[in-house]
Amino acid sequence: MPIEAIASQQSGRKPTGPAAAPARGILIGADVPLPRMRVTFLGTGSALPTGERFQAGILVQEDGRTVLVDCGAGVLQRLQQSGVGYEGVSTVLLTHHHLDHVADLLPLMKARWLAGEEHLEVVGPQGTKALLDDLLDVYEYMREKIDLQVREVVPGEFSVAGFDVSAYETRHSLPCLAYRFGDLFTFSGDSEAFAGLANFAEGSAILAHDCSFPDGVDVSNHPTPDSLGRELAGREIGRVYLTHLYPHTEGRHDEMLESIGAHYDGDVRFAEDLQTVSIE
Ligand SMILES: [Zn+2]
Ligand SMILES: [Zn+2]
Repeated sequence: MPIEAIASQQSGRKPTGPAAAPARGILIGADVPLPRMRVTFLGTGSALPTGERFQAGILVQEDGRTVLVDCGAGVLQRLQQSGVGYEGVSTVLLTHHHLDHVADLLPLMKARWLAGEEHLEVVGPQGTKALLDDLLDVYEYMREKIDLQVREVVPGEFSVAGFDVSAYETRHSLPCLAYRFGDLFTFSGDSEAFAGLANFAEGSAILAHDCSFPDGVDVSNHPTPDSLGRELAGREIGRVYLTHLYPHTEGRHDEMLESIGAHYDGDVRFAEDLQTVSIE
């Protein structure tokens, strides 16, 4: 159980370009693999801007493999700041089709086309093919600019970008999948807190979970800290990062952590844009 060694760092906001892209591997030697899984929060915000947090996007890297999970507005900028860049992402895995999870998909595609990167794979729940078709009907000039492969997945196990991934259907206003990468990392996608999802995440070194609002906000389709704490109670999880944060959560982090902590005694933190968590 690899939860002893979880390091976290801000990856900084240094200017980066193609010449400063360590995660691509080629600049540090073609056969030097990344030593462990790295999870980088690119966007920890939601559909309403906070001015600080961009929309949903998480970069997962292991042994030279890279997958971008969700691609909301601002993720393309954060990718560049992370040092990975649009060149370093050839597979996007979508949890669901809300705008705050897909808004930068076509901008990513266009950046890759302009840079001569010829391939992009988009993997997501049922309807992902229709989504891409419809987007490319609107932005017709983007059709056939790159070799686009679209694959739909259902709850269960499959491979994405060389990762073995499990998917689990969440409780949200659109069909949404949570994804689990072995024992290392689980991402809730957008979801109410419920026992099935907590079961799905149990045993993960890292769980990134939607915690959109503080207690007292009348909300469905997303958790509040109280409901999340109740469902996590008693679970074995290395560390929980809260993400998908609406502006309502600003200035209320302490009380949110206390509310979760009233039920769940594990390590819970707020995710920040450009924060990287390394898992051994
Ligand atoms: Zn959503
Ligand atoms: Zn969302």
